[in-house]
Amino acid sequence: MRATILHSPGDIRCEEVAEPKILEPTDAVIKLSASCICGSDLWPYRGLQPVDRPMHMGHEYCGVVVEVGSAVKTVRPGQFVVGSFVLSDNTCPHCRFGFQSSCEQREFMTGAQAPYARVPLADGTLVATETMPDDDLIPSLLATSDVLGTGWYAADAARVQPGSTVAVVGDGAVGLMGVLAAKQMGAERIIAMSRHKSRQDLALEYGATDIVSERGEAGVARIRELTRNVGADSVLECVGTDESMHQAINCARPGGSVGFVGVPHGVELNGEFLFFAQKSLLGGPAPVRRFLPHLIDLVLKREINPGKVFDLVLPLEDVAEGYRAMDERRAIKTILRV
Ligand SMILES: [Zn+2]
Repeated sequence: MRATILHSPGDIRCEEVAEPKILEPTDAVIKLSASCICGSDLWPYRGLQPVDRPMHMGHEYCGVVVEVGSAVKTVRPGQFVVGSFVLSDNTCPHCRFGFQSSCEQREFMTGAQAPYARVPLADGTLVATETMPDDDLIPSLLATSDVLGTGWYAADAARVQPGSTVAVVGDGAVGLMGVLAAKQMGAERIIAMSRHKSRQDLALEYGATDIVSERGEAGVARIRELTRNVGADSVLECVGTDESMHQAINCARPGGSVGFVGVPHGVELNGEFLFFAQKSLLGGPAPVRRFLPHLIDLVLKREINPGKVFDLVLPLEDVAEGYRAMDERRAIKTILRV
């Protein structure tokens, strides 16, 4: 089959690879309904994360089960499934506390920018739908696998409540999903920090009430101004740079909470700064598996439309153009037809 391999920074190709097969009794193999490119795929693509050997790319997936290992009990061939980008058993203590992304057996999904993919720990990782979903729902179901699940976790970790004032740092796909999540959780005011017109428009469509285009200290000052000098109850950090992390912490009011889901690159926090900030911080790789049943249900009932975040559709063969478009910020998120 043809699949996506990153050979070195900037060198991404669709090329011939072996089809995946069952390696462990707990594996499943699925036929993907669609695949996509994640903002985090851009870190190795840009050379900001080492590429020691060719990497099979892709960790967001949904599709139909074609084969399962002998120990798999909860999914069977022919079922439509969605899974998280973190593979988990869903039975260990961390999973039972809802932190499947710290599962004792944790692995990270790879190789999903392809027509077929192997999913280890299938019982714990995959959620099956009762019936085959309509084709037009595929982009939204694919979004639940990572980008929506991550934005949702950012809002959950930032303790968004009905009536809260929320600030969202980052206007990438995850930040936009954070806006959608905050709206669903009943936030009264949602301030999206963005300087790009098309992203501002989508943020407003997803429920943002205010747009702040300043960033860094100027952005913090603007949030203070908008919140009568108090700060936001909840802040979602969806970038992962030192500037965005400090911006997020400084935008929260004392006693407020920051949910940080941008993979950190060069973030350094000072102990004294944290001590006097008096804010709750919770972040990390999102335990998407915790939220999947609810998110899939919202999509199937057509109550949310996270799939709108995909603004570029390409065949898998043109994956290199998909990476370039996201790298140059011409596209928010690329969906790949497989
Ligand atoms: Zn576990």
